[in-house]
Amino acid sequence: MLYGQMMNYPLTIQSIIEYGNRVFPHKEIISKMPDGSWHRYTNADMYKRTKKLASALISRLGIQPGDRVATFAWNHYQHFELYFAIPGAGAVCHPLNIRLSPEQIEFIVNHAEDKVVFLDASLIKLFEPFASGLKTVKHIVLMNSSKYLKTSLPNIIFYEDLITEGKEDFNWVEVDENQACGMCYTSGTTGNPKGVLYSHRSTYLHAITSISPNVANLSSKDRFLSICPMFHAMAWGFPFMSLLAGTDTVMPSKHLQPVPLIEILQREKITVANGVPTIWMGIYDELIRNPIKEKLHLREYIVGGSAFPAGYIKNFEKDFGIQCFHAWGMTETSPVVTASRLQAHHEKLSQEEKIKIKSKQGIELPGVEIRVVSDDGTTAPRDGKTIGEFEVRGHWVISSYFKMNIDKSHSDDGWFRTGDVGTIDEFGYMEITDRTKDLIKSGGEWISSVALETSLMNHPHVAEASVIAIPDEKWVEKPLACVVFKDGKSVTPNEFDDYLLRHFAKYQLPKEYLVVKEIPRTGVGKFDKKKMRKLYSEGKLV
Ligand code: ADP
Repeated sequence: MLYGQMMNYPLTIQSIIEYGNRVFPHKEIISKMPDGSWHRYTNADMYKRTKKLASALISRLGIQPGDRVATFAWNHYQHFELYFAIPGAGAVCHPLNIRLSPEQIEFIVNHAEDKVVFLDASLIKLFEPFASGLKTVKHIVLMNSSKYLKTSLPNIIFYEDLITEGKEDFNWVEVDENQACGMCYTSGTTGNPKGVLYSHRSTYLHAITSISPNVANLSSKDRFLSICPMFHAMAWGFPFMSLLAGTDTVMPSKHLQPVPLIEILQREKITVANGVPTIWMGIYDELIRNPIKEKLHLREYIVGGSAFPAGYIKNFEKDFGIQCFHAWGMTETSPVVTASRLQAHHEKLSQEEKIKIKSKQGIELPGVEIRVVSDDGTTAPRDGKTIGEFEVRGHWVISSYFKMNIDKSHSDDGWFRTGDVGTIDEFGYMEITDRTKDLIKSGGEWISSVALETSLMNHPHVAEASVIAIPDEKWVEKPLACVVFKDGKSVTPNEFDDYLLRHFAKYQLPKEYLVVKEIPRTGVGKFDKKKMRKLYSEGKLV
């Protein structure tokens, strides 16, 4: 065997922040803070504070290599610092999804065994209800808080005090590139949420590939706005991508409505921004309703997380000259696996055909592979017609869940089974047409139809209930609940809402409760959701 004679230079988060500081120290990081004020500083300022924070994580909070450190926060500069300080201290950055139910978050923190939680003061009311159930958390560090804040939380430390205690000459903890640096949980389908542990290596490779021209095409000429929350699949990789590409970086914290987002796009001359379909649909509609005088600098928006209606891709281009870049992925795949861009051979196509291609989920990124597996277990041809489940493998695809053995998560030969269904065409463009997982994705957040059904069927007046996804203009999908009442009983939609709100967040409530005589079933007695969806679309589900 003859080995290459190149250095073994590890792929780590430490090397990303060092690069950002060495090569792009002057680039700006700008945050619109939860209280509406603006914060701006440079990569060089961020670097110094991050070193102090990493040192204080160890000296003040006792963080050890491999410990999980959680965040419960909006997108802003402190969250950005944590994305580097926690791995820089050898630990694992674990952003918690603030939109999950209190029960789910409590489960996740306990399952991950988080030692510390960095909490935004503006989110304290969401956090307090389950704080007493957290078994492993030793410290809560409050960000953006007044020192006079009244809270029931014990052992509070203030973020700026922690940074003051840290040392700027701290040496990053040396890590092996295969060690964990980040963690996110996927919200559960039937069972509990499942933890995905990202390694330094997988995160580096995902980020460096994601900035390349066939993917997000980011460079030091860009001013990037990350609307995608930092608690979604490690922010789709953006903090790492921004430093590697040398972009200026802007974060909106909780200002996620179309009007403030358009103000940020204008004020900060944003050239590229990411977000789920609901965000971009809202921005487009607002721009049409209330036209702005000056043209936006936005050249492209990155959309993913759910299918994006082709009409919006077309209209954004036609009305504002802004291009759509569509990507697909999952928490389990870091997340980006495919990207949809036109190639040279598409130039001769009509505008309509081009939009069709852009609204497909796209081609594989280098470093990952996708196949379509038909019902009979064979790999389907790339013909754009043969349907099956997508399976993936590659540098940033999960090999197993954290502390859980999930049956059938992978094929016998080691590919990850996505639960998404569709085709791949002869040019390698994949298109999702359905999913096997019984979930509804509303405004970029999951709703478990099984969990809703179980709760509804626990209602004393309900005999049977089944929940399917129906299209929604604003949220892309919403749940529709079909219920069969017990003899002589009935429940009003408002009563159902009040009942469900005990366990579900407001956004998870059904759009509609449809009272039916019976729910269609399959040959083996399961609710036949395919048939329900078809009947609904034909107006025959009664
Ligand atoms: P994320 O936080 O990136 O949305 P999740 O793991 O919560 O990741 O969701 C992944 C799932 O979302 C996919 O399996 C798929 O069902 C759906 N999804 C993601 N991107 C797209 C897309 N571009 N088009 C259609 N569905 C998508």
